[in-house]
Amino acid sequence: KNRSANIAEMFWKTVNLFPDRLALVYEDQQLTYAQVGERVNRVAYNLTNHYGVKPGDRVAVLFGNGFHFPICFFAIAQIGAISVPLNTRLTGHEIIHEIENSKSKILIMEDEFWSQIILIKNQIPSIESIFISGEIPDEPAILSFDTLLKPYNGEQVFIPVKETQACSILYTSGTTGTPKGAVLTHRGLIGTGMNFACTFQLQQEDSTLLAIPIFHITGMLQFLGSIYRGIPVYLMRTFKTDIAIDLIGHYKPTILVGVPTIYWFILSSPQFNPDHFRQVRALLYGGAPAPVSLIKLLREKIPQAKIHNGYGLTEGHGLDTLLPDEDALRKPDSIGLPVPLVECKIVDEKGASLEPNQIGELAVRGSKIMMGYWENQQATSKAIKDGWLRTGDLAKMDEEGYVYIVDRKKDIINRGGEKIYSIEVENILYSFPKVLEATVFGAVDEKYGEQVIAAIVLKPGESVTEDEVKEFCKTKLAKYKIPKYVEFLEQLPRNAGGKVLKHTLRKSYSIIN
Ligand code: ATP
Repeated sequence: KNRSANIAEMFWKTVNLFPDRLALVYEDQQLTYAQVGERVNRVAYNLTNHYGVKPGDRVAVLFGNGFHFPICFFAIAQIGAISVPLNTRLTGHEIIHEIENSKSKILIMEDEFWSQIILIKNQIPSIESIFISGEIPDEPAILSFDTLLKPYNGEQVFIPVKETQACSILYTSGTTGTPKGAVLTHRGLIGTGMNFACTFQLQQEDSTLLAIPIFHITGMLQFLGSIYRGIPVYLMRTFKTDIAIDLIGHYKPTILVGVPTIYWFILSSPQFNPDHFRQVRALLYGGAPAPVSLIKLLREKIPQAKIHNGYGLTEGHGLDTLLPDEDALRKPDSIGLPVPLVECKIVDEKGASLEPNQIGELAVRGSKIMMGYWENQQATSKAIKDGWLRTGDLAKMDEEGYVYIVDRKKDIINRGGEKIYSIEVENILYSFPKVLEATVFGAVDEKYGEQVIAAIVLKPGESVTEDEVKEFCKTKLAKYKIPKYVEFLEQLPRNAGGKVLKHTLRKSYSIIN
């Protein structure tokens, strides 16, 4: 009772302090903290006593935002096992990789995703039991999620693990190659939740809308920070602009979190209603670079809200640096300063620290970095060198220690030897008034090696030609940075967390003459 060293203990502290407070709200259902706790206890008991889950075992969970994920997440942590949250957008092939790689023995999932599993279920031998919520397929050996919720007679099952032990394995791949399992610790996840709660100085009166996937690190940190302070979390199934605007008007959350795109969609929607946003006292944008024009728009349209830029990566348990509200317009292109438990430096290829304003790779260190990649020593030693995690992001630091991301290493465009940072070009495109969304990437070019390509989504009802876009860029960018081609798309390909999948776009533009 006097410990709070792991995620389950953190959760129970809140339950014991605020049993009757609203914890989770999803559609027309709601659970108090005590009710969530009761369900967590049942799942913990049944997994241990009836399905043989032992400390250190991996349990895969495949749920969209709703009640099931949080209940399973805390129950698995409570019995010292390791949760493996799966992305609901994965294909069967990707699911096999993650379950097999983590050797998960249980899969707990939602009926909606059964079609992704049905074809591959015989190819995942590590799985001993599958539990499904909702409609149970007519298949042998598939169990209802309700069996995990059966009341029990006996003692609460609670196996307290150390803060340095693994809590979850999050596969990170959204925008790169084969997924690798980042092993996240109890301490790292508590640290991230506490950083979130402190940044927002969460109070009893606060509440938050969880509109990003809970199985991604950003959703997870929002959820953990809220649970740590015992505030209500309104769960949104998947982000849809109009529904989000309605829900914000209905639930009146005081705290919002989202990737920059979410705010673009909300603020540029004809449905945007400032009345729905008057109670929003603070918001976090991050997870991807935010165009400067978005920050100005946030200030203008939700003027009372404190706006914070949060930078983080799965391997650092998310939220590794923060640009506070006071600096949002003073240094709008910065991701701020490291949060507690994190140190930052900019290094060259050999790992030597660079001077202020020199561009190199951002490296982070501290107890908030992952243990390593699950059973992948080679990838781990490539990512963590002398205790410093290489983020894969190119950045610079100013004299005051503020960090600026200039591009992801793999997104830099090399046009005939000239390095072009895609974010710089994107920022210019976002300042074009008719543009709703823009992304910039390199495509193979016979003559120059690579060329700059822009893909643009226009605001509803707007029209513009490729030449007009290039003309606009001419006044703001050096000639070699101006997109060679501009593609107009209905929407940009994005992963479940809302990030643009540049490699998908690159593939479709691989040959240009
Ligand atoms: P993968 O790492 O496999 O490409 P992913 O992009 O989905 O997949 P995450 O760990 O979710 O993986 O993303 C981390 C990356 O997101 C960071 O390395 C950085 O490039 C980008 N990022 C996160 N927050 C910010 C921010 N506030 N500003 C700019 N970029 C950000």
